[in-house]
Amino acid sequence: MIQDRYREELTINLNPLQSAGRTNAEVRKAVMRYVDGYSVCDACNGVLHAIEKPDICNLVKDLCEFLNVDDAKTTAGAREAKFAVMHSECKPGDTIVVDSNAHYTTFVAAARAKLPVVEVPATEAPEHLIKPEAYAQTIDEVKKENGKPPALALLTHVDGEYGNLTDAAAIATVCHDAGVPLLLNTAYTTGRMTVDARELGVDFVACSCHKSWGACGPIGVLGAVGEKAEHLFRVHERFPKKNTELLGCTARGSNIMSLMAALPYVRERVKKWDAELANARWFAEKMESLGGIKLLGDNPTNHDLMRFETPKFFEIGQKNRKRGYFLHKELTKRGISGLKPGQTKWFKVSTYGLSKSQLEYVADAFAKIADM
Ligand SMILES: *Cc1c(COP(=O)(O)O)cnc(C)c1O
Repeated sequence: MIQDRYREELTINLNPLQSAGRTNAEVRKAVMRYVDGYSVCDACNGVLHAIEKPDICNLVKDLCEFLNVDDAKTTAGAREAKFAVMHSECKPGDTIVVDSNAHYTTFVAAARAKLPVVEVPATEAPEHLIKPEAYAQTIDEVKKENGKPPALALLTHVDGEYGNLTDAAAIATVCHDAGVPLLLNTAYTTGRMTVDARELGVDFVACSCHKSWGACGPIGVLGAVGEKAEHLFRVHERFPKKNTELLGCTARGSNIMSLMAALPYVRERVKKWDAELANARWFAEKMESLGGIKLLGDNPTNHDLMRFETPKFFEIGQKNRKRGYFLHKELTKRGISGLKPGQTKWFKVSTYGLSKSQLEYVADAFAKIADM
């Protein structure tokens, strides 16, 4: 028996992993039509990204335009996109540098590509900021240590711990001055806000469409700029229609159709990022005004993912019969989901996609619980 899931229909879901991956009716219909195995391959002549029916060929063009890259291909997610770049760009003996707020999948991808990782340190708590100067210094240290620059730098555009927005353009300049290509991990940005890869000056961009583009996926996009694109998307000698780093074909079913259906909607929603950000800031201010609650990272925040330190809720839990589980229970009672059961010292939330009245309801719920 497969269990029903009504979280997105019946609750206000604050889970940052899920808030911008919520699908609309169009996406759900597209997925149902292409639910069979290899369903997009009816009219394939060997190249997934060149299929005209369904119109994957134009989807690729739209993705290039949307990200402002020279070439873009779908992957199974941001992690597969990062791995493909690391594997393609680097050789044995190379080192890569990554920001210390990077996602675990960055470290796992590097390990799979057999690459040692040097971390660019963040500033101290509570901000945990990743600065261009820190990239310059870390790249310099790698150069001194290895006698050559790192083969690749990776920057997490907005990280999943603090929701800090980094200065990708400035960091791209630092990397290029040192002769190091830059891969921008936009798992939390593209699909929510406008990201122009060429304007930022990055070489590669990795996207997560089940996280930030309202697609069911699993699906990501890998974009590349300039001559880097050609090498990354090279084909196999013996099978000239088959892309080597992508193992021939990537998303070949309902996952790519969910992206095709989501893209027109995503192109519109990124224009409303300012309103999303205003909502997030409004909510953070309400939370901090309760006392005993502090926003970590950028403050004011620059993203809908926010991490709060919440000694207030920890203290209430100490007096409560349910201990640390009281918070989850009280939120569940009010139809609010997405926080981890038992967690009260800190938590992460995302306000993405919520209406102002939903947000007011959530803020009011936290205020009432803080009064217990
Ligand atoms: C969620 C996340 C990922 C993983 O994305 P997938 O598309 O599931 O591979 C990678 N990096 C960051 C920063 C993330 O937040």
